[in-house]
Amino acid sequence: MRCAYCAASGTPLNIDHIHPRSRGGTDRISNLTLACVPCNEAKSNRPIKEFLAGKPKLLATVLAQANAPLRGAAAVQSTRWALWRELDARLPKHVASGGRTKWNRTRNRLPKTHAFDALAVGKLDAITETVSAVLVARCTGRGTHTRTRTDKHGFPRLRLPRQKRYFAYATGDLVTAVVPTGKKQGTHTGRVAVRATGSFNITTAHGIVQGISHRHVRLLQRADGYAYTFKQESCRPYAVASPEGGISTAVT
Ligand SMILES: [Zn+2]
Repeated sequence: MRCAYCAASGTPLNIDHIHPRSRGGTDRISNLTLACVPCNEAKSNRPIKEFLAGKPKLLATVLAQANAPLRGAAAVQSTRWALWRELDARLPKHVASGGRTKWNRTRNRLPKTHAFDALAVGKLDAITETVSAVLVARCTGRGTHTRTRTDKHGFPRLRLPRQKRYFAYATGDLVTAVVPTGKKQGTHTGRVAVRATGSFNITTAHGIVQGISHRHVRLLQRADGYAYTFKQESCRPYAVASPEGGISTAVT
């Protein structure tokens, strides 16, 4: 945690109203940020635009950060009741609050992760089993319609080909390349970026390997707009004997 205005860390931080309360600012998260005591006092009840008048870049950053976490929340707010009404006709269901999820998760002594939160949703007595690995599907897109790259002034810099596939491979395919000799010798596995020349780039877990000939490349999975990886859940509950002699579940 750092001060939003001077980036100081390791100092007590106050909750600062970006638009001061005395001037009609609300307590909503979009109006709150963290500030160290000197910055908080220096800003006092001045509007943020006045306080950061000489620092337009910082002003833009603070305002952008204040709005960022709300985008996801806004999407959920506007779709959840529509989703609920649609499901109403089709499936047996019940709704529960986010507070209940947290209560379920904390009394089962699970750490806060997406997977454990999903496990703890709704009415349940106890969580007896947890997951050890989670499949993460990340949107990667299927390419771009852009046919030119532009320079910083917006003028065309580079023409992109209409063709998507070269030597039977498309950018985004999951491939493995076994290079027998030379500088790039070894096995490289990852997403490929194709070139008309047949000299491909492969994005591996260890970085991008450039200039791999299409001859060495073997297809593992076609790009379908998503990237799939398994993420290990770091914490696994295990049973320990409690002082009373019963069995309780603890998490490392
Ligand atoms: Zn500060």
